[in-house]
Amino acid sequence: MRALCWHGKKDIRCDTVPDPTIEAPRDAIVRVTSCAICGSDLHLFDGFVPGMERGDIMGHEFMGEVVEVGPANKRLKVGDRVVVPFTICCGECDQCRRGNYSVCERSNRKKDLGDKAFGHATAGLFGYSHLTGGYPGGQAEYVRVPYADVTPVKIPDGLTDEQVLFLGDILPTGWQAAVQCDIQPTDIVAIWGAGPVGQFALRSALLLGAMRVVVIDRVPERLAMAAAAGATVIDFENESVIERLQDITHGKGPDKCIDCVGLESHASGHLDSMMDRAKQAVMLETDRPHVLREMMYVCRPAGVLSVPGVYGGLLDKLPFGAAMNKGLTIRTGQTHVNRWTDDLLKRIEAGQIDPSFVITHTMALEDGPAMYKVFREKEDGCIKVVLKPGL
Ligand code: NAD
Ligand code: ZN
Ligand code: ZN
Repeated sequence: MRALCWHGKKDIRCDTVPDPTIEAPRDAIVRVTSCAICGSDLHLFDGFVPGMERGDIMGHEFMGEVVEVGPANKRLKVGDRVVVPFTICCGECDQCRRGNYSVCERSNRKKDLGDKAFGHATAGLFGYSHLTGGYPGGQAEYVRVPYADVTPVKIPDGLTDEQVLFLGDILPTGWQAAVQCDIQPTDIVAIWGAGPVGQFALRSALLLGAMRVVVIDRVPERLAMAAAAGATVIDFENESVIERLQDITHGKGPDKCIDCVGLESHASGHLDSMMDRAKQAVMLETDRPHVLREMMYVCRPAGVLSVPGVYGGLLDKLPFGAAMNKGLTIRTGQTHVNRWTDDLLKRIEAGQIDPSFVITHTMALEDGPAMYKVFREKEDGCIKVVLKPGL
């Protein structure tokens, strides 16, 4: 079969590789009809995530048709249409029983890579390095789905791939990011990052009743998409994020802050001017990551910082004293996808949510290597890329 494989930093290739086979009795094999490139894939593309090996198959956002089921899988049958959450969960361990699916205790059969700082606690993830189980991903014609009697979401007829594909990751990720803010009707919510995750976090915050949402980015198309949904937008390249947020909130700071950027904030060149005025140490002004630091400074006391953005390794130069003294609550993690899928699927069926608006590019799987670059560089107004094997 054809699959997008990692060959090193900024080197994704469309290779011919062996078809997957059933390896455990609960497995299923899915023929992929649509898959997508995620901001999290860019961390692998950029070489930020340890534990990748040459030839690893990429991709954790995919859906398709079941073509084979293992003998112990009583839930799926050949021909079923499924979206497969990126967090692989067994459904039976202590964490799965609590609904903490993204930290399933059984699905991550990782190698011991000795990287304590990256965190070994996640569930197995598709296409996401040997730190998270080394499971081949779904940017491919076929994929083996472990624990396929638990993880996949069955899709009713009548919904298009585009309507449901994002149930596997970015829709529940934006949703969880907003839910864990415990949004109140008087809340002003600030969201850093207007990529696909930020777009869904914005719409989720509005659906959950936020009074006002402010979205921060520098990409004009992404800011325009956020503004069209009703957000106030800040271009962090041309404006001081902290000053604008203080202005908008009459000096109080946003009640809730959501980081939909993650590791990319390491690469951002923006420095805000707040620290000068507050006569903070120069090192606080110049060191990374910007987003977490801005959130800790600007969030209103007793507010919530919700961090779906992916981080790894050691982060320093965070004003943790501000977070502590303001009594901030920090909530973060890979998304417990299966916790949200039933509800979100119902909302899609009811026409309350249509996630397809983020798709700007639909291409063949073979175009994947070029599309990684287009998505990373935000060329051609790119917000979300969907790839279709056989297009
Ligand atoms: P993306 O790369 O398309 O979007 C990130 C956006 O952040 C870009 O538009 C970029 O311009 C903007 N940005 C960069 N630096 C910024 C700064 N200093 N201030 C404000 N905006 C800034 O990625 P995405 O697909 O939207 O994903 C966003 C994040 O969510 C990534 O870190 C991804 O790994 C993570 N993610 C987490 C989960 C989870 O389960 N927790 C799931 C999916 C994605
Ligand atoms: Zn993802
Ligand atoms: Zn489990």
